[in-house]
Amino acid sequence: MANPEKLISVRSAFQAALHGWYAVHQRKLPWREAPSLYKTVVSEFMLQQTQVVTVLPYFDRWLREFPDFPALAAAPEARVMKLWEGLGYYSRARNLHKLAQAWVAAALKPRTPAEWRELPGIGPYTAAAITSISFDEPAAVVDGNVVRILARLTDERRQFRDGTEAVKHFTPLADELIHGSHPGTHNQAMMELGATVCFRQKPLCLTCPVSAFCAARRAGDPENLPRLKPKVIEQKTVTRVWCVDAGRLLLRRGPAAAKRLAGLHELPEAVDLDLKPAGDSLLATKRRAITRFQIVEAIHAVAPTPALRSRIAARDSLEWVALTELDHVTLSGPHRRWIQELLGSVPRPAGRPDEPTRTATASRSSCERKSNGSNGWWPHTPRRRIW
Ligand code: SF4
Repeated sequence: MANPEKLISVRSAFQAALHGWYAVHQRKLPWREAPSLYKTVVSEFMLQQTQVVTVLPYFDRWLREFPDFPALAAAPEARVMKLWEGLGYYSRARNLHKLAQAWVAAALKPRTPAEWRELPGIGPYTAAAITSISFDEPAAVVDGNVVRILARLTDERRQFRDGTEAVKHFTPLADELIHGSHPGTHNQAMMELGATVCFRQKPLCLTCPVSAFCAARRAGDPENLPRLKPKVIEQKTVTRVWCVDAGRLLLRRGPAAAKRLAGLHELPEAVDLDLKPAGDSLLATKRRAITRFQIVEAIHAVAPTPALRSRIAARDSLEWVALTELDHVTLSGPHRRWIQELLGSVPRPAGRPDEPTRTATASRSSCERKSNGSNGWWPHTPRRRIW
């Protein structure tokens, strides 16, 4: 079978094989136990760009604190962001919060994919997932997992410009395959197959429930599909500032209108302070990847001179946060890790935050210990006290 029409012609047999497998092999996940619309919505937001294993503890904490739409709608935004801290892509948390408020306020609750797409943070994929699972709407979900499965089932060899083009190409086929089935079960089974069997590399074709329908398996090279144009990776360097004054760390708060970091705290960039730190002030260098960017972040120690203090005072986005209060602000995940690493694991002095007790030597051992880990530490030696 090498084209969509042939696959559609055996749709019922395909659905039976897929759904039968899913009934037995689906993972036990908290949003599948005693399912509800609210659990489905929260899980779909959390699972965007994020693996199940990462989401599990967040989902559990979230449900304990915000058990339903009204509880979430009534929560302060700062608390919502705090509970999302470390999960990344923070616009999801803000949108989920706004969605809960809109849902509570709506006299007529949304039901169809089109109605759900009117709500904050809901695109075609999430609308299809929510409405098929909760309302049996025959809307197929199509993401990277589903694209991969369909490209392999149909042995589609063309090269797509990017994921968006591939999703557009396979959506009509996905819609045909869901026809006449239990749509929620069908979508979840497709997602489960992509997550647990039809891996990007080394797919488990021998145990795959739909291997009899798979043209790429017969051709012998499913791993080569789908074919997407390689992404152009861009390199970026960011210089950040580590500045401690009287037991307080300087942080920058993302502006409320910022798309990615609104309300989140990070170590400020040197450009925020019109600084160009010298090479010998380097404390640590970190690497990370965000979308198509590979970013090298150099963190420099900067002394709080009187001139710098007045520049800081003039900028609304810059805040001094007591070291003892760091747990109460919402930091982006990498920045919390970096700050914890730089502060080290020794308990902070109680009651006298303005007297540094931790020396550069002690801090260096922390940095060097981390240098063997996978989180990007390079063994630079701090030359000064860092707090
Ligand atoms: Fe994927 Fe292999 Fe199943 Fe084809 S047979 S759908 S490549 S796991």
